[in-house]
Amino acid sequence: MSISENLIRIKNQLPVDVKLVAVSKTKSQEQIMEAYDAGQRIFGENKVQELIQKHGSLPQDIEWHFIGHLQSNKVRQLIPYVSLIHGVDSFKLLEVLNKEAARVARTVDVLLEFHIAREESKFGLTMETAREWFDSPEFQSMSHVNVCGVMGMATFTEDQQIIKSEFERLHAIFLFLKSHYFANTPSFKEISMGMSDDFLLAIQAGSTLVRIGSSIFGTRQI
Ligand SMILES: *Cc1c(COP(=O)(O)O)cnc(C)c1O
Repeated sequence: MSISENLIRIKNQLPVDVKLVAVSKTKSQEQIMEAYDAGQRIFGENKVQELIQKHGSLPQDIEWHFIGHLQSNKVRQLIPYVSLIHGVDSFKLLEVLNKEAARVARTVDVLLEFHIAREESKFGLTMETAREWFDSPEFQSMSHVNVCGVMGMATFTEDQQIIKSEFERLHAIFLFLKSHYFANTPSFKEISMGMSDDFLLAIQAGSTLVRIGSSIFGTRQI
């Protein structure tokens, strides 16, 4: 199957209000252009240099999402080119994002990454930490970061029940935060969850943004 056929097959499975992030990390400009020509406009990258380079050489109406682990010292470079940063899980990073966005008179849209998987190794916040952040005066005075929702990754397992319950948990976290801290913030509305192997379960659990790479572009070498 070609990239455009894969894309159409996946889009046909998404409700109209669920957005697709085509994860194009390691993929060439030609491959991205094939998806672009089939109508795809949101692409996800996990390396700052690669995102900037692709931004510069591909159509300007592409929305680039950063989905990797972001280092504070790369924030300044990234900000002009990124429209949403999916995985913020450190307060220091949030502070750097706020400071660097302020410096160029912008606001930067971010999602907070929550730890929902059983594996120890996955990144992400706990609910307790998130509540400490939102209750802190430091957070409340951050006027250049716009927290648009949450993001998470399920355990790498075949067990559909485990994956389903982890996605449901992220949905519950979202609803709690929405009602306690963001009730008057219409832009707090995104739940980024679901990848090639589990996006249908994620949608059933309330995902608004799915991040799909290999089912569109084929499996990655690295
Ligand atoms: C690579 C990646 C994806 C896409 O994974 P596939 O299994 O190829 O669909 C989604 N989210 C994140 C954070 C990733 O790093």
